[in-house]
Amino acid sequence: MTATSQPLTRARPAVPPATLAQAVLWTIVVVNLLVLWTLFAMSDGGKNTILTIAKFFGMHVALIMMFQLLLISRLPWLDRRIGMDRLTVWHRWTGFTLLWFVVAHATFIVLGYATLDGDPPWRTFFALASVPDTLFGMSAATIIVVVAVASVRYARRKISYETWHAIHFLLYAALLLGLIHQFLEPATYQSTTWSTVYWWTLWALVLTALAMGRFVLPLYRNMYHQFRVAAVVPESDNVVSVHVTGRNMDKFPGHAGQFMIWRFLGHNRWWQANPFSLSAAPNGRTLRLTAKAVGKTSAGLRHVPVGTRVFAEGPYGAFTAMHRNSDATLLIAGGVGITPIRSLLEECGGNIVVLYRAATPADAVLWQELQALAQARGARLHLLTGRTGAGNPPNTPFEPPNLLHLVPDIVHRDVFVCGPPAMTNAVLQTLRALRVPKRQIHHEKFGFA
Ligand SMILES: Cc1cc2nc3c(=O)[nH]c(=O)nc-3n(C[C@H](O)[C@H](O)[C@H](O)COP(=O)(O)OP(=O)(O)OC[C@H]3O[C@@H](n4cnc5c(N)ncnc54)[C@H](O)[C@@H]3O)c2cc1C
Repeated sequence: MTATSQPLTRARPAVPPATLAQAVLWTIVVVNLLVLWTLFAMSDGGKNTILTIAKFFGMHVALIMMFQLLLISRLPWLDRRIGMDRLTVWHRWTGFTLLWFVVAHATFIVLGYATLDGDPPWRTFFALASVPDTLFGMSAATIIVVVAVASVRYARRKISYETWHAIHFLLYAALLLGLIHQFLEPATYQSTTWSTVYWWTLWALVLTALAMGRFVLPLYRNMYHQFRVAAVVPESDNVVSVHVTGRNMDKFPGHAGQFMIWRFLGHNRWWQANPFSLSAAPNGRTLRLTAKAVGKTSAGLRHVPVGTRVFAEGPYGAFTAMHRNSDATLLIAGGVGITPIRSLLEECGGNIVVLYRAATPADAVLWQELQALAQARGARLHLLTGRTGAGNPPNTPFEPPNLLHLVPDIVHRDVFVCGPPAMTNAVLQTLRALRVPKRQIHHEKFGFA
């Protein structure tokens, strides 16, 4: 057993970890909405009905923004239970909700004052823009609109990950401007001492969570471990493993199936960071990632010199043995999706079946170590090769009857899937058709929202 691995048969928590974390998040949302609505009901309202509506939307804008920040704060407790992929999906949808509330708040403010002063809305708009308090709010709203436009699917496909990420960083400016706007505008949450204390405590908690998860913890962890490249091992023409070592590695809190966001200092620019899964369970001495050459960074990894300093954020992700519901596990990998599956095979106990999909046997990287591990664990290992749909009958290993034939007791197993999006989607569809309970299905898509 590795330094951080779990016992082979473990007691299951009464409440599944993901359910518990979701319940905590929902409680936070519902309780704060109730407090907000109570404050609103007790307040005097606006100078006319339209401004009262504007105020209602404005209060929600701030609350949604706080929730947004909490979702991407990368707090380990949340991340290990819900997973960064799901948290970023929720962050994305909360972001679009924020956009509509911002638009509603701004529109009702302009219409409200236009009605009050008997001016056309465009004149009111420019009059409001000349008041510093509102100008801060308007600037924050403009940034939120720009970021939302850059995040719609069409735009995301057109711009590079780095450009989109840089635009997203503007949200920190929106946050600052929004905070100043709230501070200067006498709003419902500043109507009593109690409400003022509640509001700013809420902000303090959210900003602390963000600072801890995004900055303090990664900085601390990198200073503590001082990661550096220990070895670079080509696995095939286009796949390479990088072994990383450092200080106090026995205290590293990662688990098989998790990933880290890696920066190889000097290899790429400091703002370029790439997520790669741990392709071996942390063993108290080294970490290992295995990367397929896709773009410049991943292709260049085979030339990274031994000794290169590494700045790695994480470990992140909920694709771990912690989420198993039974001791029988099915691990399904496609292509380089073998990386977290390989490490899960090391850490999972109990009855294990592994299905590894690769175009040809030569494409099945890490195959020999998988065989050795499977033997040591008493796991059943299948390599599924060939082009999907080719031959007669067609080669379709993940069609429901074929998968059931390979793993007849699939419905009683936890199933972990990681592979190219098309394969992962096909497997997920089959699992639904075979009525594998949703709570037993876990997948990693190698992509965020
Ligand atoms: C959770 C997770 C785990 C992963 N694990 C592995 C693994 O074990 N092995 C492996 O080979 N690949 C893995 N990937 C995919 C890997 O991150 C990309 O192939 C790699 O980042 C490509 O970078 P590049 O600079 O070489 O190529 P580029 O051409 O720059 O990037 C290709 C695409 O990769 C994605 N990408 C690049 N940088 C990032 C980033 N910082 N965050 C999110 N997406 C990014 C973008 O969609 C981009 O369009 C994983 C991805 C995720 C999200």
